[in-house]
Parts: sequence; structure tokens; C-alpha cells
Amino acid sequence: MNVDAILRTKGAGVKTARPDWTVLQAVEKLTEHGVGALVVSADEQRIVGIISERDVMRQIASGGPSSLERSVEEVMVRNVITCTRDDTVNHLMTLMTEGRFRHVPVVDDGLLVGLVSIGDVVKRRIEETEHEAEALRQYISTG
Ligand code: AMP
Repeated sequence: MNVDAILRTKGAGVKTARPDWTVLQAVEKLTEHGVGALVVSADEQRIVGIISERDVMRQIASGGPSSLERSVEEVMVRNVITCTRDDTVNHLMTLMTEGRFRHVPVVDDGLLVGLVSIGDVVKRRIEETEHEAEALRQYISTG
């Protein structure tokens, strides 16, 4: 099972934030779409960072409510770990576990084409496990 299979099911749309937005604008978009992170990009293609609800919480804890007026650029994480369509779901699980994050943008030729969240990965793993169990049940009943 690879990233391409996930994108074909969930679609390639990615929620993004511009680096010059305020943190409040990013929070509004996170809330509006019910997502946990936004890829930061000025043109929706080239990735300059990622901002997740964790970054917002950390910033408010250290800087107080006025942190919401800071720019996304000041609060985002710049060193974004990405994957490609060919990467396996197992590889994504390793990236997320070792990096302690729940979102991985998908790139093609360096440009943003999708985003996989830990929810997508878990959903896939559950489906795979169910298929394996069903195959085993059939094997046993017809064997
Ligand atoms: P998350 O668990 O995805 O909400 O993110 C936890 C922390 O990791 C936050 O500081 C995020 O900005 C950061 N983060 C999320 N995804 C990535 C990623 N793919 N590469 C690097 N950092 C990330």
C-alpha cells in the first residue's frame, strides 16, 4: 500500500496558509476545515513550512494571546519532512513515529500535491487488516 492509493481515495486537495498571514488567520482556517495542520506556501505549490495546532499552542504558552497577531512565518516549522506518491504507508508510519508529527506533505518534482495525516494512515492500516482477516476467513472456510 502506498501514498498514491491514499491520495486517490481522499483527493489531492491540501489546506495551506500563506507565510504572511497572522496566526489567527491560520487558526481560523484550521477550525473552518477541521484539520490539524496547514502547509505554508505563498503559491500553494512550493513548501516553505508547516504550522500545526501544536505550534499555535506552544506559541501562546510562551508568548500569550498576542501571539495570535504574529505572522505564520514566525511560528511555523521550516524543516518540513515530505514524502512522494511512491512511498509506502509503512514508511510514513516510521517518519511520523520517529519525527513525532502527524502530517506529511506529498511532493512531486518538489511541488506540493497532497497531504497525508496520521488519521489517513490509521484508516488504511485498519482496512488492510480487515481485508487480511477476510481473506484468512475465506481460506479457512473453503480450505
Ligand atoms: P503535528 O503532530 O503534525 O500536529 O505536529 C507536531 C509538530 O511537528 C509541530 O511543530 C509541526 O509543525 C511539526 N510538523 C508537523 N508535520 C511535520 C512534517 N511533515 N515535517 C516536519 N515537521 C512537522
